[in-house]
Amino acid sequence: MIFAANFKTNHTRKSTKDYIEALSPKLTDKRAEDRIFIFPPSTALDRFEGDFTLGAQNAYPTHNGAFTGEIGLEQLDEFGINTILIGHSERREHMHEDQQTVAKKYRFFMEQGFEIIYCIGEPLEIREAGDAAVTKYLLAQFEGIDLSYEKMIVAYEPIWAIGTGRSATVEEIASTHAMLKSNMNRPLLYGGSVKPANIKEITAIDGVDGVLVGSASLDVESFAEMIFA
Ligand code: PEP
Repeated sequence: MIFAANFKTNHTRKSTKDYIEALSPKLTDKRAEDRIFIFPPSTALDRFEGDFTLGAQNAYPTHNGAFTGEIGLEQLDEFGINTILIGHSERREHMHEDQQTVAKKYRFFMEQGFEIIYCIGEPLEIREAGDAAVTKYLLAQFEGIDLSYEKMIVAYEPIWAIGTGRSATVEEIASTHAMLKSNMNRPLLYGGSVKPANIKEITAIDGVDGVLVGSASLDVESFAEMIFA
């Protein structure tokens, strides 16, 4: 299983260090086949020791240059970061990243050999329109994305389940993952209000290879509880 923590705009450099210092010793007991990812805010990126992968929540597709407010490859290289989240719905929505922008970013970081967690997900009105609408919407988020890239992991995150406390049902996750798996051959995470109370039923679903967790990953004990559930 893959357990990925997305801190979003939470935690500081200091609290990320404290978090990792608390989590790292616990990870010596994790199942050998499990992988742990941590995506802190960019100000907290650093070199850390431990059996986990530190990644960037976002970066601009450039080595360096005149892109005020952004970080590029040079800033990630300083800390040996070669893992990135791309396509998160919060960036698609709040930062207006359209599919073309997302695909361009994907292509750049793929060419750099990064491991990419590529996020897709539908809004509530699409879910309410039925399975065919969900399929069409989600597959459109694969436009311009090389699904054969061997360092890519997909995260299915229904937007209506992110940060709302309302996870998708087991049936919704199972059927959506089955549809996605019939269209690509990469590990597939579920994200959207995953927490200690529902981690076991979600990771038990056929076609779920792991979870991407926001809110419930912010507390280190809560994240560890899910890893060891
Ligand atoms: C996320 O945004 O990646 C996420 C899954 O958030 P939450 O767990 O808070 O729903």
